[in-house]
Amino acid sequence: MHLARFPRVFAAHLPTPLERLDRLSAELGGPEIWIKRDDCTGLSTGGNKTRKLEFLMAEALAQGADMVITQGATQSNHARQTAAFAARLGLACHLLLEDRTGSNDPNYKANGNVLLDHLHGATTEKRPGGADMQAEMEAVADRLRAQGRRVYVIPGGGSNPTGALGYVNCALELLGQANDRGLAIDHIVTATGSAGTQAGLITGLCAMNAGIPLLGIGVRAPKERQEASVLALAQRTADRLGCPGVVTAADVVADCSYVGAGYGIPRADTLDAIRMFAQLEGLLLDPVYSGKAAAGLIDLCRRGVFRKGQRVVFLHTGGSAALFGYDSALGAQAA
Ligand SMILES: *Cc1c(COP(=O)(O)O)cnc(C)c1O
Repeated sequence: MHLARFPRVFAAHLPTPLERLDRLSAELGGPEIWIKRDDCTGLSTGGNKTRKLEFLMAEALAQGADMVITQGATQSNHARQTAAFAARLGLACHLLLEDRTGSNDPNYKANGNVLLDHLHGATTEKRPGGADMQAEMEAVADRLRAQGRRVYVIPGGGSNPTGALGYVNCALELLGQANDRGLAIDHIVTATGSAGTQAGLITGLCAMNAGIPLLGIGVRAPKERQEASVLALAQRTADRLGCPGVVTAADVVADCSYVGAGYGIPRADTLDAIRMFAQLEGLLLDPVYSGKAAAGLIDLCRRGVFRKGQRVVFLHTGGSAALFGYDSALGAQAA
């Protein structure tokens, strides 16, 4: 496994910090909780998509693209990081945004990530909830190619074997940091959505024989479907890396019991987790991904699944820009 063999545009602020959360750990009274700060990757308020885009954008440049297109939900962090990365490379960026939550809140529709998409110069088109976004994107790419654009299509969440290399890299980086400070990690917890983050991480961990279990906390799909999509992508990523078969079904674990009513709809425990991280540690989570993952982490600590004496690393995947599209949900709870 030698990542330097893969084309990459270096743009993320790496390594991201690995920090101990003393006040959250004390409050929960269970394991020592550490945080891997992938909310601090640097581009346009940061987040996990920047690591994937380092490899995806290199592929776009190698193919001579002058434009990238991608898709996501209205408040997509992936779309925002793609827009920022494209701006930095002088590429045009077009985004297809799906109304996946049905929210009519004006801030949800125009503030937060949407504001930043446009600030970075991206153009956007909307699609109704439930649209086949991958097919819509291919159709738009054909339309733009017919107009003479050299289009590179990035899948939703940047989740394909190329993008997942960014999280193989994160696994390498995290293990290096843990080794350097003698931190024996018992468990890693992260949000899992389009699967590239969990798939890349588990591929890297397995390829290094790290022996650290990884738990993905789902934000959309039910457990069986989420685990199947992570496993399929991890296996393709391992093939790409030249270590086929290194990830097995037993390595891929998702807990999808914190999703609630659906993607992008926070539950009470999501909002509680956001408030706990903000008030105990001065950290910003988000209502769609990291808030749900943190709700899972907190619940598993309280239930003793993660116990005293253990060390758990929470991978913070970012997303705080979306808070400004959810002020009404957070405000209502503050009252
Ligand atoms: C996209 C995203 C995730 C999920 O990562 P996937 O690779 O899509 O599974 C988690 N957290 C945040 C903040 C995200 O934007």
